[in-house]
Amino acid sequence: MDNFDVLIVGCGLSGAAAARMLADNGYKVKILDRRSHIGGNMYDYTDEFGILVHKYGPHTFHTKSKELFDFICRYADWEDYHLRCGAVVNGICTPTPFNYQTIDDFYPPAKADDLKQRIEKAFPNRKTATVLEALACEDEAVREYAQFLFDNDYSLYTAKQWGVPADKIDLSVLNRVPLRFSYESDYFDDPYQVMPKKSFTDFFVSLLNHKNISVALQTDALAHLAVREGRMYLDGELWDKPVVYTGALDELFDLQYGALPYRSLSFYWVHEDINSKQDMAVVAYPQEVGFTRIVEFKKMFPKRTVSETTYEMEYPIPYKKGIRQEPYYPVLTEESKAQYKKYRDLADKIPNLYCCGRLADFQYYNMDQALEKALKVSCNLLLKEHIST
Ligand SMILES: Cc1cc2nc3c(=O)[nH]c(=O)nc-3n(C[C@H](O)[C@H](O)[C@H](O)COP(=O)(O)OP(=O)(O)OC[C@H]3O[C@@H](n4cnc5c(N)ncnc54)[C@H](O)[C@@H]3O)c2cc1C
Repeated sequence: MDNFDVLIVGCGLSGAAAARMLADNGYKVKILDRRSHIGGNMYDYTDEFGILVHKYGPHTFHTKSKELFDFICRYADWEDYHLRCGAVVNGICTPTPFNYQTIDDFYPPAKADDLKQRIEKAFPNRKTATVLEALACEDEAVREYAQFLFDNDYSLYTAKQWGVPADKIDLSVLNRVPLRFSYESDYFDDPYQVMPKKSFTDFFVSLLNHKNISVALQTDALAHLAVREGRMYLDGELWDKPVVYTGALDELFDLQYGALPYRSLSFYWVHEDINSKQDMAVVAYPQEVGFTRIVEFKKMFPKRTVSETTYEMEYPIPYKKGIRQEPYYPVLTEESKAQYKKYRDLADKIPNLYCCGRLADFQYYNMDQALEKALKVSCNLLLKEHIST
């Protein structure tokens, strides 16, 4: 397809969902992705041992929105899957988010009962609290419990994950995993928590299966697309049709305000002829050196029975551009948010540029958040194009 109406940079969930919405509305869409596969970070495949694995770490779709759930159901069949995670602290595998089982794991029964009563008094009618709230609790025993978790999990995990001390990181990061005041052990509490019956990649194949969509892989859009004086150029020619951009904004603007900080991951893959590596699919190891967690994929697909196991160990690493690393997590600090805003101000001045996705928005989006934003941006694009024609 040489003639197209919209150029989309990135074939992850954001780019692919935007493409589908625009294609359904009659637009011819061209997607470019520099990777060799569709699906962005959600890409999965069956390894040589017959085990379905997620190339870029474990993914479970979860959302509160029926509308978003209905959207994904148009392109794949899904089954309920409630992710359970744990953390190994002082040799004990305890559930995460930490819950009342954690208290039972680390306190003798009488002290554990007392602590739970104190929590209920300090946080009446609350199901959760952030670790920072618990650290500031007026009850000394609750504070001590929070301090134990902070010292043996949160601060160690955060330092490894982000490569900076806990007091330098945006509070939203420390607050992502709360303390639970019950025995509830699901990792997420959304009403819709699902995995594809086949695979995420199969979902993408179906999402992109439209006569108005063409995809070019192993193609760096920035070898073709450039911004000069607030206008976009494609292969040297002025391009005034829409561009949906889901890549990193600093790259689009030639790093003119410096490189935005991202964190990358190195995945170390292991296959073993054992039935089980660990109690749960995803287990954090805050006190181990180097890696943060181990993901054992067969436990994410309990209906597929395999006798052996494949798992990956995640080593967070600094992200450097140009050496085949992926920018998985934006490092959110006051400085980086101010730096990002300068890029965003440049982007917002280009009328035919539409940004979305976790890279372009410099946000830690879950899949449902990325999907919601991509659909919203596509609606805005359709509305604006409709008004101008
Ligand atoms: C380890 C990990 C685990 C996660 N687990 C979950 C989970 O369990 N549940 C959940 O809801 N969310 C999870 N997420 C988040 C989820 O991956 C994202 O919300 C979702 O994939 C975002 O899609 P996206 O399209 O915005 O970004 P991406 O998937 O990153 O896609 C962007 C695409 O743009 C391409 N691109 C960038 N620049 C260029 C360029 N110049 N030219 C061409 N192509 C370019 C990239 O190659 C990439 O394929 C997880 C993320 C990570 C990193």
